[in-house]
Amino acid sequence: MSAIDSLPPLREVIATHQLSARKSLGQNFLLDLNLTAKIARQAGDLTGCDVLEIGPGPGGLTRGLLAEGARRVLAVEKDSRCLPALQEIADAYPGRFEVINGDALEIDPLEYLTPPIRIAANLPYNVGTELLVRWLTPKEWPPFWESLTLMFQREVAERIVAQPGSKAYGRLALLAQWRADARIVLSLPPGAFTPPPKVSSAVVHLDALPEPRFPADAAILSRVVAAAFNQRRKMLRASLKGISPDIEAHLTAAGIPPTERAEQVSLEAFCALARELAKA
Ligand code: SAM
Repeated sequence: MSAIDSLPPLREVIATHQLSARKSLGQNFLLDLNLTAKIARQAGDLTGCDVLEIGPGPGGLTRGLLAEGARRVLAVEKDSRCLPALQEIADAYPGRFEVINGDALEIDPLEYLTPPIRIAANLPYNVGTELLVRWLTPKEWPPFWESLTLMFQREVAERIVAQPGSKAYGRLALLAQWRADARIVLSLPPGAFTPPPKVSSAVVHLDALPEPRFPADAAILSRVVAAAFNQRRKMLRASLKGISPDIEAHLTAAGIPPTERAEQVSLEAFCALARELAKA
């Protein structure tokens, strides 16, 4: 199949700019432009959207996003060695691609973006999880973004989409599913990356809901869920004792048996409990 643009193949880009992968920056690059185009397509209809990309590296996913018709891509990349390679992409797509050289955990790119905004990234996993939690917990909802399309370690992806009764079910699932529709859209073996990481990966796509799925105060819900899953093997009447002296009554009022364990409790029931606690 032909490349998605007139730019050189990514292996050549990496050789020309001497972008040897750095472990400290979690660099596992995607060099197959068919694959990066496929990931970009999972980000939804990009025409008319600004796309925020975190960690473009040599620009494989960036090229996919631009070829898919993104109005503009704004990328934040920590490794300045990638800038000349990214400049070649900016030259090939005049006025549609800009890079901020910096740490995505420190920079607020909002001022550079115009809605509608979608976010796409293949990031080091620790940075990805931290940013996901930040994007899901803004001061106000709906957030500045419409969707997130993010690469994760397969095990983390499973935690995001997990349902009650499974081992993967916990804080991340509840947080993500309270405010977004989340699904795994692609699975990738280690060999898809250069160099290959130790574990498999998956792309998760999240669409922001216009309002949280069930009413609840965000701070109370977060406190309850954290306490419940910090001691996930205990019954809720024990794990949530510190939340309220009347926790058994609140659990019962919310329709949750006090002997239930966190793993079995649905998002809807956790929200009902948060509402009961808000009344107290
Ligand atoms: N998106 C490229 C791809 O798919 O080939 C690169 C993926 S590589 C897994 C992660 C990229 O994120 C690297 O380019 C790395 O330099 C960059 N990165 C790591 N930590 C970062 C941070 N805190 N802020 C911005 N970029 C970061």
